[in-house]
Amino acid sequence: MKCYVCAQEGKDTEAAGICIVCGMGLCTGHMVREDVDLWEGGYPFPAQKLEKKLPRILCPECAAALKE
Ligand SMILES: [Zn+2]
Ligand SMILES: [Zn+2]
Repeated sequence: MKCYVCAQEGKDTEAAGICIVCGMGLCTGHMVREDVDLWEGGYPFPAQKLEKKLPRILCPECAAALKE
């Protein structure tokens, strides 16, 4: 899979991760990674408290949308 953001810029970069919200491929330069204690809203996982922090990888667009 290629990085979707890079593809839009005309570059051909192999994706290193996938946005867990929209599923687009992302290279390390475009992925936004955040560790969260638990999910709010329950998507894509059921709402529940988690013992461990979950790493989540988001594309820049989804990261911006979720922070509002
Ligand atoms: Zn990229
Ligand atoms: Zn996304």
